Amino acid sequence: MVSVEVVSRNPDEITVILKDVPLEYANALRRASLEEVPTMAVNHVVFYDNTSALADEVIAHRIAMIPLTSEKALDRYKPPEVCREGGQVDGCYTSLYLEAETGPGEVITVYSDRLKPQEDPDVAPIRGDIPIIVLGPSQRVVLEAWARLGRGKEHAKWSPATVASLTYLALISIDRGRCTKCGLCSQKCPTGAIRTVNGELVVREDLCNLCRQCVKVCEPEAISLSWRRDAYRLYIESSGVLSPERILVQSVIEIRRKLLEFYENLERVLSEAGGS
Ligand code: SF4
Ligand code: SF4
Repeated sequence: MVSVEVVSRNPDEITVILKDVPLEYANALRRASLEEVPTMAVNHVVFYDNTSALADEVIAHRIAMIPLTSEKALDRYKPPEVCREGGQVDGCYTSLYLEAETGPGEVITVYSDRLKPQEDPDVAPIRGDIPIIVLGPSQRVVLEAWARLGRGKEHAKWSPATVASLTYLALISIDRGRCTKCGLCSQKCPTGAIRTVNGELVVREDLCNLCRQCVKVCEPEAISLSWRRDAYRLYIESSGVLSPERILVQSVIEIRRKLLEFYENLERVLSEAGGS
């Protein structure tokens, strides 16, 4: 029976162990978390004034790459397929406004906290300290940025995950006869899968990412590392626009959406073929 176990999670990351799930399905989840889960990002920028050293296009690109909170937007705005084609369709876009200027002799860095939501406070930069532009003396930039839902496969700015990796679940075995208890493996282990507690090695295979650092530093060759064929470790790191749990759940929803789309197309094609 399929089993899912959450082995670690925090506001930015989640790691789950998937058992008795086909590899293709586990990998589809990983890909969907990067490419299919919709998020909000700026897609059009209207400049009212720009006397800075940077061209409009450069500033627009920087603004588009600022992650925007999308948790509520996901249920509030129309899907990317509707908005992509139709320009300013109702229910697609929300706007943010930025205005900054400097006096004579003044130089400032304009950060993302100056990008203010106009209609929807739930679509805003995830943090206020992302630099956008440096304004020199007596410079000004005023713009309106329009955001909509999109998918990572269209542009990376819409991807909710910064990392999504899938590995086999590790099998780690320590030969206690060879081990000198030098502790080097636990010092090098980046995930805490091998730790030294009271002078003894403690192993947690569910935390292992199979990086092999422990094997490389173990001169007595006391560690043997392999992996299970029926269990996978899926790790997702969020960019901050959605919680990692939401990315995972929404990935399943997106796969189901694509399968339904496929089913409907297949039914249509078959009924057309039958009617001809
Ligand atoms: S590096 Fe090798 S010898 Fe040293 S504690 Fe780890 S397993 Fe034992
Ligand atoms: S393979 Fe990497 S993550 Fe796994 S136990 Fe060794 S050092 Fe740690």
